[in-house]
Amino acid sequence: MAMVETLTFENFEVTVIRSSRRKTAVIKVDLEGVSVRVPADLPLARIEKLVAEKTVWIERKLAEAERKQRGIAEQAEQNSTLADGSRIMVQGQHLPLRLIESDHMRVVRTSDRLEVYADGDVLGDTEQVRALVEQWLYGRAVEELNFCVNVYKQRVGATPSRIQIKDYRARWGSCKPDGSIQLNWRLIHAPMHIMDYVVVHELCHLLEMNHSKRFWSEVERVEPQYKMKRQWLRDNGWQLSF
Ligand SMILES: [Zn+2]
Repeated sequence: MAMVETLTFENFEVTVIRSSRRKTAVIKVDLEGVSVRVPADLPLARIEKLVAEKTVWIERKLAEAERKQRGIAEQAEQNSTLADGSRIMVQGQHLPLRLIESDHMRVVRTSDRLEVYADGDVLGDTEQVRALVEQWLYGRAVEELNFCVNVYKQRVGATPSRIQIKDYRARWGSCKPDGSIQLNWRLIHAPMHIMDYVVVHELCHLLEMNHSKRFWSEVERVEPQYKMKRQWLRDNGWQLSF
């Protein structure tokens, strides 16, 4: 049987959940708020001190959760409409979409926007505009990812038997025992240094088919900042669609 108490701090409240089965304290921060699970007999003053020591971490986690929720809401809204002014992330840059009437259908990236030229009927249909933009992004992805593999295969010291650009929902890349690598075209949304990291990661699997210490030291040799980039993908991966 768990007992519930609440601790109030300057910027947040903490739900205390006592349990006779617990031996240690664990703080959890998510969209529901902050909670701390503690052993049944831990004095409240001790719990307060424990939480106070973690204030910076808790506030950072709360801000993160909020950002994530806001992002998901914005994303859902953007997905429903793709109109003039909608923003599309291309290689880390949020480019506004410009829909321009023209008989010559094409997509053009300028320094600060993405222009879609098509006739009025097409421009008035979100799905057709989306298809045009996606086709363009896919083409860019094929070009950039191939280029990227060519640059990094020398540095890694491994050449894939084949490069396939795939439409994955939940992974950035993969590597098969036949020496081929697969890369997600949605990486075209990510900043270039993130794309680099994913390419290096998959190329390193040609040397080490696992996530062992040796694998990560190969990655680190070519990408000393790989930890930061992995974290970026964990934090922003959900943004990489439009
Ligand atoms: Zn891997």
